[in-house]
Amino acid sequence: MKRIITLFLTLILFYGFSSNASTTIINNKKHNRETMMKNSLHLVDISMPDHAVLRKSAEPVLFPLDNKTKEFIETFKTFFAGLKSPYGKPAGLAAPQVGYSLRIIIIQIPPEAKEKRKDVYDTLPPTVLINPTYVPIINAGESKDWEGCFSVPDKMGEVYRYKQIRYEAFKVDGKKITGVAKGFLARLLQHEIGHLNGELYIDCLRPDCRYESIAKAAEIIKQETKN
Ligand SMILES: [Zn+2]
Repeated sequence: MKRIITLFLTLILFYGFSSNASTTIINNKKHNRETMMKNSLHLVDISMPDHAVLRKSAEPVLFPLDNKTKEFIETFKTFFAGLKSPYGKPAGLAAPQVGYSLRIIIIQIPPEAKEKRKDVYDTLPPTVLINPTYVPIINAGESKDWEGCFSVPDKMGEVYRYKQIRYEAFKVDGKKITGVAKGFLARLLQHEIGHLNGELYIDCLRPDCRYESIAKAAEIIKQETKN
């Protein structure tokens, strides 16, 4: 049971929409701009007619950040903090999932995930990463596990991901960070960076990967955890 909860906790990478919300920002008072942007954020998913933002390569973010981008990031963080899923805290969100075609993601791995899931090597508070990229460490191999996504409602699928990757990204203050990620953090980064390239986990399904309703996946996970 613990493993099931963990799987869901960690694999809820669900997301959201909007389209050109920035064009609605007509008031030059910062507070009002933020309020309007906050109200404009909502999850975009593939069942929505206008989900093209999920399928295109997101725009690189320029430094120093302009005010509009800073405001978006603050709103994005608040939106992510309030995001609920039936299975626990979401692990990540990418800007295109809320309708913004920007290379910005937010990820988190709460401490409880470490207790419940065998491949959690790192915990992480909510962290915004800008222009993140990775290269796989191919020799470390791949692992298959279930993933869910806010952009693919009501489904979960088994996805192969590289077990280890080298990543780099920029923090909000413009500082570059680099490192090696393994286990769930590597999976999470691959999933989220995929969003920035217009890729969804359903594009990564191989013939031996199951793709089920969340209810059915939960049943399978429960069954297989028992065995
Ligand atoms: Zn996703």
